[in-house]
This record gives sequence, C-alpha cells and structure tokens, in this order.
Amino acid sequence: MTRSYDIDATIVGAGPNGLAAAVTLARAGLSVRVYERASSAGGGAATRELTLPGFRHDVCSAVHPLAFESRFFREFGLDRRVPFAVPEISFAHPLDGGRAGVAHRSLTRTAEGLGTDGAAYARLMRPLVERTTRVSDFTGDTLLRVPRDIPTAALFGLATLEQGSPLWNLRFREDVAPAMLTGVAAHTILPMPGLAGSGAGLALTAYAHAKGWPIPIGGSQAIIDAMVADLIAHGGELVTDHEVTSLDELPPSRVTLLDVTPRALSRIAGDRMPDGYRRALARFRYGNAVAKVDFALSEPVPWTNPELHRAGTLHLGGTREEIAAAENAVSHGSLPDAPYVLVSQPSLFDQTRAPAGQHTLWAYTHVPAASREDRSEAIIGQIERFAPGFRDTILSTSSRTAVEVERHNPNYVRGDISSGSPGLVQLLRRPVLSPDPWRTPMPGVYLCGASTTPGPGVHGLPGWHAALSALRHEFGTRALPDLSPASDDSI
Ligand SMILES: Cc1cc2nc3c(=O)[nH]c(=O)nc-3n(C[C@H](O)[C@H](O)[C@H](O)COP(=O)(O)OP(=O)(O)OC[C@H]3O[C@@H](n4cnc5c(N)ncnc54)[C@H](O)[C@@H]3O)c2cc1C
Repeated sequence: MTRSYDIDATIVGAGPNGLAAAVTLARAGLSVRVYERASSAGGGAATRELTLPGFRHDVCSAVHPLAFESRFFREFGLDRRVPFAVPEISFAHPLDGGRAGVAHRSLTRTAEGLGTDGAAYARLMRPLVERTTRVSDFTGDTLLRVPRDIPTAALFGLATLEQGSPLWNLRFREDVAPAMLTGVAAHTILPMPGLAGSGAGLALTAYAHAKGWPIPIGGSQAIIDAMVADLIAHGGELVTDHEVTSLDELPPSRVTLLDVTPRALSRIAGDRMPDGYRRALARFRYGNAVAKVDFALSEPVPWTNPELHRAGTLHLGGTREEIAAAENAVSHGSLPDAPYVLVSQPSLFDQTRAPAGQHTLWAYTHVPAASREDRSEAIIGQIERFAPGFRDTILSTSSRTAVEVERHNPNYVRGDISSGSPGLVQLLRRPVLSPDPWRTPMPGVYLCGASTTPGPGVHGLPGWHAALSALRHEFGTRALPDLSPASDDSI
C-alpha cells in the first residue's frame, strides 16, 4: 500500500535550528510546514519590548560569535542578508581598581594591553585565530567522526587540555589574561576548570579575535526574520500559536524534524518510540540555569574604565579564581554572593534598540537548575562594582528567574539555556552516542534542536545537519542544497 503525504517535511519549533532545517529542506525543493507554539517565530533569538515602549530587548540570545563562522550561516550568506554591528572590542573583563582585560578584534593589540602576559596569551590564541573557520567546522560536527583537518584538531585539543586542567595558570604571571579566558569559558555554565568549558571558551575567544562578536542591527530577531523570509520565498509555510503535543496530530508527511528536547520528544512520540531509545534519551542530562534581567537605561552604563564603553560584551565577576568559585558554587547547587554576570550593551552599537540618548542593557547570571530566585539585586551589585552609579541610570527592569525562562520556552528545561548540559560526555552523546545523532529509530523522525550535536548557540548547525541526514536517508539525496541569497535578498 502506498501512503499519501500532504507535505514532504513537517518541522516542530521555529527556533534558529527548526528554521535552519526548514530552509535547508525547502531549498532542496521539498514542501515544508513549520509549527511554532509561540505567536511568532524566534525561540531563543526573539527580540521584544520587555521594559518600556521603544526599548527593544533580546529575550534570549544577544551576541552572535558564530554568525559569520558557522558552516550553515556561511552557506546561507547571513552576513549578506542581515546588517550587523561588529564592535572593535569583542568583549571586556573589568577587574577591581579600574583595570580591565580588553579583547580587541586584533590579537596583537589585545596582547599589547596584557603587559607581561601578552606574549603568552598571543602564543596560546594565535594558532586558533589563524584557523577560525577550520575550528568552527571541527567543533560544529560530531566529534565521533575522524576530523578532516587533523592539525587543527590537534592544536585545538592541546590548548583545550591546558586551559581545562589545573595547569591553566602555568603560562601566565598576572591576573588579567587568565580572567579573560575564564570569563568566556564560563558561558558554558560548567564546573571550572573543565575540558568542555575550556574548548568552547577557546573557540569563542578565537572568533572574538578573528571576525569579532557581531550584534544584529534590530536585534537577534533579524536573523530569524531572514530565515523565515527565505523559507516563505521557497514555498514553505509557518503556522504560529500551534503547540504540537503528539506526532499523531501532525498531517502525514515524509519526514518530521523536531526542534525540541529529548524529554519533549519522548512525550510527543508516545507509543511510537521504541523502549531502548526512550531509555537512551532518559539518560540525557539537563544542566544548570540562568536568571536574566533586561534594563532600560537613561544613559550608558557609567563604567569606571572608559574602554568598557566600546565593548559589545562584558564578563563580570573578577579574577579567574573568583569566577571559578562562583561557577563551582552554582554547580554544587548554591547561589554565589558575587556571581559571574554576562552583560551585553547592544544599544551602544545599534540605535534601533532604544529612544535617542537612552539605552538597553542585557544581563544574566548563572543559578542552580529550577531556581526561583530573582537575581536582579545580585546582578546590579556586580555592575555597580565596576560602574558605581549604575543604579541611578535604571528606568525600568524586566527580570526572569530560571523557572520563568523555562515557562517562556520549554526547550530550556529548568532554565538550562543550553537545552542539555554541554559537558564533555554530552558533547559526544548528544542526545545519543551515534555518528548520526539527529536520526531517531522512528521512521522519518529526526531531532534538530540544540539538544543535538553540536549543541547550543545560534548557529543553525543541529538543524542543518538534521536536514541533511533526512535528505540522505528519506530522499536519497547527498547533494548540499544551495542556500545562498538571491541578489535581491542581499543588503
Ligand atoms: C537567556 C538566553 C541567552 C542566550 N544567549 C545567547 C547568545 O548570546 N548567543 C548565542 O549564540 N546563544 C545564546 N543562547 C542560546 C540560544 O538562544 C539557543 O542555543 C538557541 O536558540 C537554540 O536554538 P533552537 O532552535 O535549538 O531552540 P530554541 O531557540 O529554543 O527554539 C525552539 C522553538 O521551538 C518551539 N517549540 C518547542 N516545543 C514546541 C512544541 N511542542 N510545538 C511547537 N513549537 C515548539 C519553541 O517555542 C521555540 O520557538 C541564549 C539562550 C537564552 C535562553
């Protein structure tokens, strides 16, 4: 009996990965329909007025180190579709007494600012900075395959081993360079030092010194809007306000790709899921969480160190040892008094974010999973430490606890913004140990979100890999669809 299908591909979830999958399949000539539970597409890359009218805040992701580096975005030509501001200072790391580590796009200039440790920092980073595209391609694929570029994998592995072990201070004499590296590694919300945090931190630091850490003009939503526009232009459909609770409710389609967590897939698939796979997914672990605060400000943050006014991103928390202590406290289930705080100040680079002369500020800190604590005061305290008088610039705030982060988007289980711990084991087993981890044993059903390889971040790679796997297995095509923009899509 031949089954008739209404549609070739159904996608559940219009986050960056669901849309990356949708665009890839539509570009392969398939009919594609995307279902999204929220009232608009975006997931972790949405931009909204969260505080006052005219102040546009990135609800989740704000800074996009992979916008120019991810293989999917390179194929998609994102830099030709969305205007980006690329701050000359990718990130800065203030220390007490008005000192700061400043990560310029130029590695040489960064090293010059690091005094005695400048040469050691440059020696660590230069081999990676010279190979960022190869680093991105190596870290953006499953680590279970033999790397195509073994020298890059070896250089990356050695640097990761050094900075992820108790020997991490060996090459440094002062506190600024180690603090800078720790501030980036801490993005992963993992105990420190550790290999997974070190690897992610080194890759992100290398991107900071290569193409920079871009900020989309108009907010992260601009990335989503470009993907939705491409999908629609190639015949795809987007259905919003539609939460999918069961595979059985979907129209018959040859493939279904789900931008959801393994936990959600187990529920949505119901009896269709084989017991062995259900048990494997139950072993998938979710990590610790974030509590976020968005600010509307009457003026820029009054940083003590003037260079901080030119930085897109800031890592607050003090020295390497202080940040490691704060992160390790979170990993043991407690709330540190002086937490690590990640800050982005997009309105310094993008005038669309706030009324003239006023500003937005995006900040979050790490908390144990499922925390109900409002961390506004702890975050304001850390900003005040490096910018006395900050409190007086606040016009309005919008705060979200870890449980509220999950309520906003179920992919962030208990406030875990990585949709699954990005620790070493789960870099290999994401969500299961397989060279094709996107494909499930259910015929035509694929996972395509950040819970799959290569993990969290706005880069579209899980969605792209899942779509390519579906094209190979269900449609017998190995050709990469051309994703490049038509000339009239370009900015
Ligand atoms: C506070 C915060 C800050 C972050 N900062 C950054 C950053 O600065 N840079 C960066 O690169 N990354 C950042 N991230 C991580 C990044 O946003 C995510 O890794 C990324 O969005 C994952 O994309 P995704 O498509 O896999 O999932 P998501 O973006 O979570 O999208 C999943 C989509 O699926 C929908 N959905 C879920 N279940 C269903 C269902 N049953 N039916 C229909 N729809 C469903 C959801 O509503 C959502 O729209 C941040 C995340 C958070 C939460």
